[in-house]
Amino acid sequence: MRRFGVRLLGIVLAVPVHLVEHPLVHDALSILRDSTTGPELFRRIAVRISLLLAAEATRDLPAPAVTVSTPLGPAAGRRVSGDVVVVPVLRAGLGMLDAVLQLIPTARVGHIGLQRDELTAVASRYYSKLPGALGGSFVLMIDPMLATGGSAVAALDMLREAGAVGVRMICIVSAPEGIALVEQHHPDVHIYTPAIDQGLNANKFIVPGLGDFGDRLYGTQ
Ligand code: URA
Repeated sequence: MRRFGVRLLGIVLAVPVHLVEHPLVHDALSILRDSTTGPELFRRIAVRISLLLAAEATRDLPAPAVTVSTPLGPAAGRRVSGDVVVVPVLRAGLGMLDAVLQLIPTARVGHIGLQRDELTAVASRYYSKLPGALGGSFVLMIDPMLATGGSAVAALDMLREAGAVGVRMICIVSAPEGIALVEQHHPDVHIYTPAIDQGLNANKFIVPGLGDFGDRLYGTQ
């Protein structure tokens, strides 16, 4: 992890951003960005990149030592333990959920539904169902596009109200504006992302970004 300097309104903020540089992540990201990639391939690659990013974001999951018996005798190993909660932000975050559950099948799943107003880009809550007792859990929030940061902050507020601490967020593409807003409201949240793009356009889309993630995932554009 390095604390990443993001300049906003002349102020440089130091945020815990983990810039994931694995070549397989960037290979997948280029396929997602490509405007000729259709929904079927987009979905498949969204799973691939989410697996790789989730592996990075769970690098320090508690995994106590165990001994297992191989056919030839005892072997020292480690097994992941503890409660993991994964929270997709609807609807785009759903495209990342299966990947995280493939890695951690025992994870509990919460859902947060936020609707972005097309004109103002302001996020409003329309759904929330979170598991109980989040206080001691390893919480991973998945939201592929960190754009204005409005929906990320709203979702993180809901997680904080529910008792979550030390939340990690996985984003496939981030904008400096979104990172800065998360830092302002949730400086303890760690962001795992392979890309911090130039910024937002007039419609609050990330440039160059990859377009509307949900539309590309579900073919609704
Ligand atoms: N949501 C998206 O899907 N894409 C963006 O560029 C911004 C928000």
